[in-house]
Amino acid sequence: MSKNAIEIRGLKKIYKGRGGAEDKLALKGIDLEIPQGSMFGLLGPNGAGKSTTINILAGLVNKTEGSASIWGFDIDDNPRNARANIGIVPQELLFDAFFTPREMLEVQAGMYGVKPHERRTEELLKAVHLFDKADAYSRTLSGGMKRRLLVAKAMVHNPPILILDEPTAGVDIELRQQLWDYVRELHRRGTTIVLTTHYLEEAEELCDTIAIINHGEVVACEPTKQLLKRIDEKEVIIEVAETLDAVPATLASFTAEVRETNKLAVQLSQATGNVGQVLRAVQDAGLTINDISTNETDLEDIFLQLTSDKVKQKDAAE
Ligand code: ADP
Ligand code: MG
Repeated sequence: MSKNAIEIRGLKKIYKGRGGAEDKLALKGIDLEIPQGSMFGLLGPNGAGKSTTINILAGLVNKTEGSASIWGFDIDDNPRNARANIGIVPQELLFDAFFTPREMLEVQAGMYGVKPHERRTEELLKAVHLFDKADAYSRTLSGGMKRRLLVAKAMVHNPPILILDEPTAGVDIELRQQLWDYVRELHRRGTTIVLTTHYLEEAEELCDTIAIINHGEVVACEPTKQLLKRIDEKEVIIEVAETLDAVPATLASFTAEVRETNKLAVQLSQATGNVGQVLRAVQDAGLTINDISTNETDLEDIFLQLTSDKVKQKDAAE
């Protein structure tokens, strides 16, 4: 038995363009090792290839090249065993609206061949705070409840690995906390957890190891502490569209100064905050970010690339 819960080698995915559309190279041949017992974050902006990776592991998307194994079982040679060792909470909330949570878990358990006396339907419903909704139609559940129900569904066969793809989308803060409490509890009991997110803070808070994926490539993969240390103590320079006469109040908690009338230079360390918080504070001040720069390590470039992608997406969405 390998020490890795998941091993991915040279994984490549090309989505074939249909109806004259261009082919899309979604994964460029990634390698990834996810150790047993870890709380692993796959961090990257929208479109980076996170769901593609997860969906290949789930058997929902066919890979183009490369290999992957789950708990030592190759997904091609041993798909049944591979799938038995993994529970996946998909990004999309796809539901059969007329099943109740109880029925949904029972059907799922049946599909995985869990015998009736071994089923943990009520325990799972309690664990995700849905016991009082056990017999309600699923379509009446809120987004957060649906997400938690999908977590319970992913765990019916008690897999050693749980993967959550962007689990906080549509989940309010209080329920998000309950979701994390349950995920942390599973982790304490030995479940390997993998979560994808495009929020750096979320990965930082929860994960012991973080891989950063961008444009279908893994650009960093290391223990969270080490990663944070490498990005510690930097000066980030944010160029804005507006003319500044003072540092905006939203940046009061940072060490920051105005330079050349339209640049904010912010001193950052692990203790004082991260790039995401700075960007948010700048946006909260109503400023338009034109450019972000720093003279730091490769890894910093990676983060800036990531965060500037986020800003571009935000601009594009507005
Ligand atoms: P992420 O989950 O990191 O946001 P995805 O894995 O969903 O990224 O997508 C990676 C890239 O592949 C994106 O450019 C996306 O548009 C493209 N893509 C995803 N699914 C499909 C599909 N079914 N057909 C064509 N392109 C796809
Ligand atoms: Mg996704």
